[in-house]
Amino acid sequence: MNKQLATKNLDDIITRVEGARLKISEHHIVKIIGISKYSEVNDVATLYEAGQRAFGENKVQDLKTKSDELDELPIEWHFVGRLQKNKINNLIDIKPSLVQSLDSLDLAQEFNKKLEAKDKKINALLQINSANEDSKTGVNPEEAVSIYKEILDTCPNIRLKGVMSIGAHVEDEKIIKDSFKTTKKIYDELVPFGAKYCSMGMSSDYELAIACGSNMIRVGSTLFKD
Ligand SMILES: *Cc1c(COP(=O)(O)O)cnc(C)c1O
Repeated sequence: MNKQLATKNLDDIITRVEGARLKISEHHIVKIIGISKYSEVNDVATLYEAGQRAFGENKVQDLKTKSDELDELPIEWHFVGRLQKNKINNLIDIKPSLVQSLDSLDLAQEFNKKLEAKDKKINALLQINSANEDSKTGVNPEEAVSIYKEILDTCPNIRLKGVMSIGAHVEDEKIIKDSFKTTKKIYDELVPFGAKYCSMGMSSDYELAIACGSNMIRVGSTLFKD
């Protein structure tokens, strides 16, 4: 990927994000996270030069490798993948800006224990399985608000910043939209409890996600395409 292409891909996304967010409000700011999991570290550096500042990975080891190699750049790194308990300590040591994929109370409590032992804190989002798909991780929508509050009460080393979800993996736009609306409704209930981010929308559905109230999108394939 050369700089010209990186700039074009990024500009295309920014233009579409602008269109979608302005339909809601001038004040509705949407943060773009570039998901680099299928891409080489050089492509991340090229997109950084084009102006992209936040990137995410879904494997702890890849997050470590890429963030180490690009240590000189003030990139904001996110973790968006399924987290195994035996990788928690490694993830804490990488110090990501945001762990978007806290997907159970059990994981949160284990994470909190390891954070306490290291005297560290971390920013995180609660992942919600709003499409109710067996293949996806995340808490059930019906339980999301109570689990969020329980993490707030029992995990002082986790700073919860909102929710994340992956849209329904189907063709039918109505079903995808319903899954986004489910997440947004939960987010709205959690705003009084400090929620700031409603992370939803990927390459194929981010405009729809923004229309449903997303303020953080995670784009991989469409940002890195060549
Ligand atoms: C891979 C991934 C993305 C980006 O997917 P694209 O369809 O390539 O944009 C977003 N969120 C999560 C959690 C992912 O694993």
